[in-house]
Amino acid sequence: MKKVNVVTLPGDGIGPEVTSVAVEVLKEACRHEGVEISVSEHLFGGISYEKHGVPVTDETLESCKKSKIVLLGAVGGPQWDNLSADKRPEAGLLKLRKELGVYANLRPIQVYPSLAGASTIKEDVIAETDILIVRELTGGVYFGEPRYTSEENGDPYSVDTMKYSRSEVQRVSRVAFEAAQKRDGRLCSVDKANVLESSRMWRKSILEIAGDYPDVELSHMLVDNCAMQIIRDPKQFDVMVTGNLFGDILSDAASMLTGSLGMLPSASLGGENGLYEPVHGSAPDIAGQGIANPLAAVASAALLCRYSLNLESAAQNIENAIQTVLKNGLRTADLYTEEPGTTLSNTQEIAHLLLKAVSEREMVSF
Ligand code: NAD
Repeated sequence: MKKVNVVTLPGDGIGPEVTSVAVEVLKEACRHEGVEISVSEHLFGGISYEKHGVPVTDETLESCKKSKIVLLGAVGGPQWDNLSADKRPEAGLLKLRKELGVYANLRPIQVYPSLAGASTIKEDVIAETDILIVRELTGGVYFGEPRYTSEENGDPYSVDTMKYSRSEVQRVSRVAFEAAQKRDGRLCSVDKANVLESSRMWRKSILEIAGDYPDVELSHMLVDNCAMQIIRDPKQFDVMVTGNLFGDILSDAASMLTGSLGMLPSASLGGENGLYEPVHGSAPDIAGQGIANPLAAVASAALLCRYSLNLESAAQNIENAIQTVLKNGLRTADLYTEEPGTTLSNTQEIAHLLLKAVSEREMVSF
C-alpha cells in the first residue's frame, strides 16, 4: 500500500472535534484507493501558545514543509485576544500560510440541493449555485509593510499597507484562469480599481495575461457591487478571483448561500504544498459540546484528496458521503430548521454515518 504522511493541526475550540472526523474519513476513503494515510499531529494556535509560548513552533513549521500536505482545524479564542500581535493564534496561521507559500486559496461555494431551504436567502435565488472563489492568500493588506500604530498631536492612529505586485496578481490569476477552463469558462476579477492604486495594479496585471486564456471570458467587478451581486444573483458567477481582504469578506458572505459557515471547505495551494482547512473559525461558543458541524472539515479532506493526492475518486467518495448525510436528514444545530424529514443531530452521529457511507462507497447523484 502506498503511504502518505499528512500533518494535522487541530488547533483550538471546535478545531479538534471536526479535524478528528475529517481524519477518520480521509483515512477510510484513501484506504479504498490503496493509499495509507499516516498522520503527524502538532499543537497549533492558542494551544501551542499555552505550551510553547508561540502560536506555531519552528518544529511544527518544518514538519508541515516536509510533509507538504496539511489539514488544519481552526485557531483562536477570547482568552488569547489580548496577546501581542505576534503571539496571537491568527499570527501562527498567517505565518504558516506564508512559509508554505500557499498563495491561492480556493473556496468552492456549492449549494447542496437538500440544504437549499437552510439558507436565509430565498431558495430560487440560491438553487444550483456553484461558485469557486480564488482568494490571494499571502499578500495584500494582511501582510503589507509598514504596519504600525503611532500618535499625532495626541491623537493615536494606525497604518496598514495594501500592496500587490504584478507577479503576485498574475500567479494567483493563472490558478483562477486554469480553474475556469475546467469549469464554465467564466472568470470575474473583483477589485476596487475606482479608488485603490493596488486594485488598479491588480486589474492591469490580470489583463496582461488574459490573452493566454482565450477560452475564458474575463470580467471585472468592483468589490462593493460584488458583495451585493453575490446575494442578489449568485448564479451569475462561475470563478471569482480577488485579493486577500476582499476574498476573506466575500467568501464569508457567500457562505450564507450554503446555509452555514460549517459547510465551507478550502484548499490553499502553492507549488507542491497544500493546506486544507474549513472556512469557519474555532467557534468557542459551541466548543466541547459535541455539536459542531464537521462537514466543512470533511469537505476539506476531499479537496486534499483532489489537489494533493490526485485521488479524484477518493474526493468524490467523501463528497458523496456528505450528500448521504444530508439526504438522510441529519443536521447539526447550525443547519437545523425543523424542516420535515430532518433531525437534529450531533458531530459523532454524523461522523458515524460519513464513515459508513465512505466504507460502503455509497454513490449518490448530486
Ligand atoms: P466562527 O467561524 O468561529 O463562528 C461564527 C459562528 O458560526 C459561531 O456562532 C459558531 O458557533 C458558528 N460556527 C462556525 N463553525 C461552525 C461549525 N463547524 N459548526 C457549527 N457552528 C459553527 O467565527 P468567530 O466567532 O468570528 O471567531 C471565533 C474565533 O475563531 C476567533 O478567535 C477568530 O479569530 C477565530 N477564527 C479562526 C479562523 C481560522 O482558524 N481559519 C477563521 C475565522 C475565525
